[in-house]
Amino acid sequence: MEVCKMCGRQVEKLVRCHIYPNAITKAVLAEEHSISTMSIADGPRTSSGHAGFLDPNIVCARCEALFGRADEYAVHFRKKVLILEPPYQALSSEIFLFRARSDLLHTFAMQTVLRASLSQRPENRLIDATEFHNEIISHLINGESTIKMGTEVCIWVTRGEFKSYSAAPAIASFSEKDVWRISPPGMHLFVAMSSEGLPKALSHSKLTPAEDVIVRRRRNPDREEMQAIEELLIPNMESVAKISKSALKRAGSMMPHDWLAYGTLKNK
Ligand SMILES: [Zn+2]
Repeated sequence: MEVCKMCGRQVEKLVRCHIYPNAITKAVLAEEHSISTMSIADGPRTSSGHAGFLDPNIVCARCEALFGRADEYAVHFRKKVLILEPPYQALSSEIFLFRARSDLLHTFAMQTVLRASLSQRPENRLIDATEFHNEIISHLINGESTIKMGTEVCIWVTRGEFKSYSAAPAIASFSEKDVWRISPPGMHLFVAMSSEGLPKALSHSKLTPAEDVIVRRRRNPDREEMQAIEELLIPNMESVAKISKSALKRAGSMMPHDWLAYGTLKNK
């Protein structure tokens, strides 16, 4: 018998649980042919990834099913933001208002933090959200959004070369405070580590309880926003370039990308 880390029940068998949805990894793999996985936890490390991180020792099948709704919504939302169907395309530097579910996007970020925190795989060890576990779990079991917890969350959707990076969960340092950062391929989830909220560079993008989510498209991130990813990116850059090169050979051709284009979500 095994014990589910979410509900505490003894079950015959726990199920394989992805730290972030495999559908995101698959979508990026189909488009880019390769994913670079990066970590700085034990010095810079980069490897070529073909699947998302998963952990078979976290949850039972019943609890795993509780993740489905928000995970599916995040996959759908990411696609919608990246495709930017007409009439949005022509206005690519503008701000768009989507009828999107900030409650489900918030739950997606919090359940991803929960999975990384419950996981004992070494690449997830920097995330310890123990003090939030009970609250996140009870919201999930009751079918409620975690947005009621008040934890500040912001989500970036990335495209261009950034799309194929998948970074091990880490703590991103800003001048005033640290935040948890989990980066599935094509996304960065930033979650405040305490009730003090997100640092200024991110708080303008935090999700708030409202139906509409504003998506801002930007070609270049601000200096301070960039800081959150460059500590991971710079030491790994050379290895990433090598991986991209061999993927290029395998695939025959790749589309040219615009570097550093990404979308930021912001509520009204
Ligand atoms: Zn369970």
